[in-house]
Amino acid sequence: MFDIVLPQDSKPPADTFDVLIVGAGPGGMTAAIYCARGRLSTVVLERNTAGGQMALTERIENYPGFPEGISGFDLTEKMKKQAGQFGADLREITTVAAMEPAGDRRWRIVTDEETLTAKAVVLAPGVEARNLGIPGEAEFLGRGVSYCATCDGALYRGKQVAVIGGGDSAVEEGLFLTKFADAVYVIHRRDQLRANKVAQERAFANPKMHFIWDSQPRVIRGEGKVEAVEYQNLKTGVVASLPVDGVFIYVGQAPNTAFLQKIVDLDEWGYIKTDPLLRTNQPGVFACGDARTTPIKQIAWAVGEGALAGIQAEKYIDLLGEPEAAATESEATEAAAATESEATESEATEAAATESEATESAAQSPISSEASGARGTPTGGRSAAHPGSEPTA
Ligand code: NAP
Repeated sequence: MFDIVLPQDSKPPADTFDVLIVGAGPGGMTAAIYCARGRLSTVVLERNTAGGQMALTERIENYPGFPEGISGFDLTEKMKKQAGQFGADLREITTVAAMEPAGDRRWRIVTDEETLTAKAVVLAPGVEARNLGIPGEAEFLGRGVSYCATCDGALYRGKQVAVIGGGDSAVEEGLFLTKFADAVYVIHRRDQLRANKVAQERAFANPKMHFIWDSQPRVIRGEGKVEAVEYQNLKTGVVASLPVDGVFIYVGQAPNTAFLQKIVDLDEWGYIKTDPLLRTNQPGVFACGDARTTPIKQIAWAVGEGALAGIQAEKYIDLLGEPEAAATESEATEAAAATESEATESEATEAAATESEATESAAQSPISSEASGARGTPTGGRSAAHPGSEPTA
């Protein structure tokens, strides 16, 4: 006679995971695809809905595999589906409040709803739109002031709008707004755009696009809703008022890393510091995407980083499971590093990126190099140019 052995329930408790990913932008979702496909129990926490800045982009034309272009919403849905089909657990509208070591080589993550633990954490919290910090901006938010043309553009059919900024977002989203608005005025603080050349050419050729150069918005005015934006010409000092129904603000981005202060090393702008293998200063904690100190902010780059962070997390967990190889947490971290040649290769890539970044920065106009020098001004006037916010496309 044989004893009947009932199968043990090997499913971990619902709050215990191998990998916890903070952020469901392209970096976080790629890390989720790699980890879940590697048979690791994987949870992704996202404070809004998935996609991050990508989801707010009307048309993406420089992500490989989509020669006709794809909307940020559709690309987000595809990434979500792909991560989900390998078993990643995506929890949207879930804000991470705190993160701390939980002992036993795990991390404890406290959200607004629950407490979870994981062996490895991939930080991909992304960035959010910067404010201009002028009177009327907060007052008229949702009543004419917007940071998302994709979300609000259709409300401005037949109207006149202003777009603030001269980067990729300002110009590309301004072009999108011409589908609805009769006139789109781009107010830019310099006389040259920072945006990529293709977008510039399209913008200059579009009869609905108008440019107000060397000018800084000072006040947004209205009665109950936006009626005008007042701006000052920085060369002449003259102040003028432009009647508009909407003001779309695209003056750069800031990382969502407030909850990480005193946990992982951040740079002076609040971006997460890592080594070339995307390891933070904490064992088992990796970072990828726009919130990391990175030479460019592009979906393709974030996806590549997500793959690397996911693979690193997987290697780290594998080695944690081998008591000899991972006698201590730091040994596990060390062991999780790829072979030396792998590291050297990534270091070379990073060095090359830094070099090209330096060349790119050197090629900036006097204003932007000046801004780079005046680091640390988050809003108002000429904001600091974080290395990662240099033109890239
Ligand atoms: P960005 O490249 O940092 O551009 C911000 C723009 O706002 C700049 O033109 C800057 O002026 C201006 N600005 C900054 N602070 C200001 C202030 N206080 N008052 C007035 N103007 C101010 O930001 P982004 O356009 O949001 O793009 C962020 C990153 O995402 C970039 O790396 C970009 O390449 C990338 N991105 C790529 C694509 C694409 O590839 N299709 C699309 C969107 C975004 P200055 O030029 O004088 O500094």
